[in-house]
Amino acid sequence: MTIQTKNPATNKVLKTFEPHTDAEVDLAIARSVVAHHELRTWSFEKRAKCMRQAAKIMRDEAEKLGKIMTTEMGKTLKSAIAEVQKCATAADYYADTAAEYLADEIVETDAQTSYRAFLPLGPVLAVMPWNYPIWQVIRFAAPALMAGNTGLLKHASNVPQCALYIEGIFKRAGFPEGAFQTLLIGGAKVERILRDDRVRAATLTGSEPAGASVASICGEEIKPTVLELGGSDAFIIMPSADLEKAVSVGTTARTQNNGQSCIAAKRFFVHADIYDDVKVRFKDSFETLTIGDPMKGDTDIGPLVDEDAVNSVTEQVDDALKAGAVRICGAEPIDGEGNFYRPGILENIPKEARVYHEEIFAPVALLFKVESLDEAIEIANSSPFGLGSAIFTTDKDEQKKAIRELEAGGTFVNTMTASNPHLPFGGIKRSGYGRELASEGIRAFCNTKTVYIA
Ligand code: NAP
Repeated sequence: MTIQTKNPATNKVLKTFEPHTDAEVDLAIARSVVAHHELRTWSFEKRAKCMRQAAKIMRDEAEKLGKIMTTEMGKTLKSAIAEVQKCATAADYYADTAAEYLADEIVETDAQTSYRAFLPLGPVLAVMPWNYPIWQVIRFAAPALMAGNTGLLKHASNVPQCALYIEGIFKRAGFPEGAFQTLLIGGAKVERILRDDRVRAATLTGSEPAGASVASICGEEIKPTVLELGGSDAFIIMPSADLEKAVSVGTTARTQNNGQSCIAAKRFFVHADIYDDVKVRFKDSFETLTIGDPMKGDTDIGPLVDEDAVNSVTEQVDDALKAGAVRICGAEPIDGEGNFYRPGILENIPKEARVYHEEIFAPVALLFKVESLDEAIEIANSSPFGLGSAIFTTDKDEQKKAIRELEAGGTFVNTMTASNPHLPFGGIKRSGYGRELASEGIRAFCNTKTVYIA
């Protein structure tokens, strides 16, 4: 893939970057090793000081960085600014908590002293997607650097300016030279880095094929990996729910980030008793969304990331309609400049339709009428994915059942799935493995060393 900034609102190429050569990548890895040797000797306080400075830079420059994000991948400027602010919060969170999460854990045995120590592994390669171009990176980088690891970022080829900006933030914040570096390379160059002995682990957020490739290479190289892959999250609405809230939150959950979120609610299971009412409300809610220039403050939905994204959702929707699904509204490309796509809703989706099993990475909601919570859970769990899930109900037994039985990395009750630095984030089944954020996120790339002093 060409490494370039191409504005999805206009499809104009604004800047093209020369990829790093193998020799440049090798030098970056060497710098990463040297930086790790330094960073691992730093106290948590010293690392935290730099991390808080990184947070400050992000807060101070949220709008400037937000405009780059919007230009490169099309998310609305207001959501881009909010994303950078969330990153600052996560950086502060790990500055505050790393020492506690990685403190030695004394274990009583017959030894004089025995404990678990959490030690850094070294350089970690992070392969990242464009959809949350700063958040995906910071939620890896903040805990990694606080643990004393160093980061090598292979960002998506369409967000090079975001990638370089992040490298600059950590440099300016005072981390050692080489502690966090961006490699401008395509996906084909990832294998060479994974097979380099100096690189100790990898994390990938992205599609299943990319995840499977990285995991299989790391399997051969015996290197730990964390995979954050796709999702087709269930969003269940039961009769006791506050329907106005459920529909309003459901609309946001499906259309946030122009519909391009791994944890977007993609399949809505609505109880038969309220189905018709909810359907009308969803239609109204989707039709009032403002689609347009993502730089404008009143825009809800900007363009999809590229022409391929429009083609891919169009093919999925056509296939579903051919298989017997019914279009309630929207779900079609908008003619004219840029990759604009009208958010929409389909119902009566047959099992044969591709979207019954596939992820839709665009603002198209699938509505299913169900007779019971059991039926909702059964269809929800028939998906190959298991990332997030949500249920709207005030019935405590229904809440408990959904929490116990939905096959997902998270269940959110009376709200939408969202990542939160205080809570672990990740999936099961084909949504990946391992966890980011919270204590799990910082321990993911640590050596849990057993210490036994006789
Ligand atoms: P993608 O094509 O897999 O790209 C993600 C990253 O992987 C990019 O940096 C890409 O580089 C690289 N890549 C692609 N193929 C590769 C390969 N064979 N080996 C090594 N690296 C490779 O994913 P996407 O389409 O941009 O992102 C959307 C997907 O990510 C969706 O499925 C979404 O659900 C998922 N996602 C998951 C989470 C989560 O936390 N679970 C969060 C966000 C997104 P190039 O750009 O150079 O191709």
